[in-house]
This record gives sequence, structure tokens and C-alpha cells, in this order.
Amino acid sequence: MEPTETSPATSNITVRRGEPLVVITDVNKHYGDLHVLKNINATVNRGEVVVVIGPSGSGKSTLCRAINRLETIDDGSITIDGKELPAEGKALAQLRADVGMVFQAFNLFAHKTVLENVTLGPIKVRGMSKADAEKKAMALLERVGVANQAKKMPSQLSGGQQQRVAIARALAMDPKLILLDEPTSALDPEMINEVLEVMVDLANEGMTMIVVTHEMGFARRAADRVIFMAEGDIVEETTPEKFFTNPQSTRAKDFLSKIL
Ligand code: ADP
Ligand code: MG
Repeated sequence: MEPTETSPATSNITVRRGEPLVVITDVNKHYGDLHVLKNINATVNRGEVVVVIGPSGSGKSTLCRAINRLETIDDGSITIDGKELPAEGKALAQLRADVGMVFQAFNLFAHKTVLENVTLGPIKVRGMSKADAEKKAMALLERVGVANQAKKMPSQLSGGQQQRVAIARALAMDPKLILLDEPTSALDPEMINEVLEVMVDLANEGMTMIVVTHEMGFARRAADRVIFMAEGDIVEETTPEKFFTNPQSTRAKDFLSKIL
């Protein structure tokens, strides 16, 4: 076994880097007649950054949502840290807290301040005191570069700032992993980099991340692995370098010729 180490991204969690954290086995999902996930098998190890890429409609979001149990699956299994996803109740709330999620649309609570957005989960789900939660939230907002916005409402922030708050909110729960589903695709171009920089920092600090993105620069700088999906299948799984320079499948070649 590898020596244990403490990751600065999750300073109170001992990270056993390299062991499987998310194990997806023979997962199928249909929406009516549409077979959106076709016998998916994948493993994400601790400390690993996996970029999921593929055409629109290929099932990337459905897969992310299944990992967080925002979607049910028809069959197969998904385990996190060796545990099967719970169906409901307190165990499910705990799982959701362990899996941070950042969506394409900045889904902050519109009627709460930036600071409240980040403290809410730790107070409600983790039972943290307000004072501790605020201290932690301010440190996280500092880390993503928006501490000076803490008292504002989300609508007063730019899209890039809101997305950085969403990342801080996810981190506030000390998640075991973070799922980011196209976190920069709704942003104006000049704001994309400020969010990608935060994501690269997180990756460098050892956070386990599953990132749906077409940002090749991020994939090359931060990803350990690229999973290419098309029509509900994992078609290729390789390093970013190999994927972008030498894709094997026709579907990947077609896809890359359209985005590059
Ligand atoms: P991606 O994120 O790769 O663009 P999605 O996982 O969002 O793909 O969607 C995969 C397919 O499933 C698409 O054809 C989409 O239209 C369909 N789909 C997604 N969500 C639903 C839903 N709630 N009901 C019915 N069909 C859905
Ligand atoms: Mg999607």
C-alpha cells in the first residue's frame, strides 16, 4: 500500500492516493426507449482528475448525476469509497455532501448572500457552528479569489465569480470528490480562465475530480485521464496527450475535428 499523505485541499481528510474511490460497474440507464448509459464501467482513483468529453447528448451529464444519485440507474452499481449509493434519507444526504457538484448554470441560492451560500451546507448537513462555518467559508472564498464579495447577493457577481463561489460551496463540505459538469461553458470567454485556474489549483492539491469539459488546455494541464463518451458508450479512455494528438476511434476523430 502507498504511504498515506494529507492533501491540502482536504486538510482534515487523510487521502490514500491511488486507491479506487468511485467504481462504476455495468451501469445502464434508459429514458424511455433511449439507452443513455450503455453498460458503463469506469473507476476513478483517489487524487485522480478525470476529464469526460464527448458530443452533446452522449450521456456525460447523466453519468455525473448518477454518481451523485440525482438520477437513478436501471442496473449495475456505483460505489463511492466502497459503499453502494444509498437510495434515500440521511445516508443519501451524507453521500451528496461527500460528492461536491458544480453545474454549468451557476446554481447558487439566489436569495442568500455569497457567504450564506457557502455556510449553509456545513451548518445544516455537517452540524457546524455558524462562527466556524463562516470562518471556513471566508478562507475558501479567499482561496477562490472572491472573499471581497462575501456580503453580496449572487446576482451582483459576474458569472466567473459565481462559478468560483459554487466551487467554494462544494469545497466547504470537505467532499471526497468533486464533479464539475461543463463548469465554464456558460461563461463569457474572458471569465473562463479565472475558473479554470481555480480548478487547476484544486487538481494540483490532490482533489479527486471528474470534470466534464471541452477545455483542452485544462485537460492537458490537469487531467490524468480522458474518458471519451459517444451515444452512451465509453469509446476511449486514455491520457490527454494521446487523446488529443492521436485519437483511435472514428467517433473521437470526428468529434475533435469539430471542436479543435
Ligand atoms: P450530455 O451531457 O452528454 O450532453 P445528457 O446526459 O444530458 O448528455 O443526455 C443524454 C441523452 O439523454 C440526451 O439524448 C438527452 O436528450 C437525454 N435526456 C437527458 N435527460 C433526460 C430526461 N430527464 N428525460 C429524458 N431524456 C433525457
Ligand atoms: Mg451535459
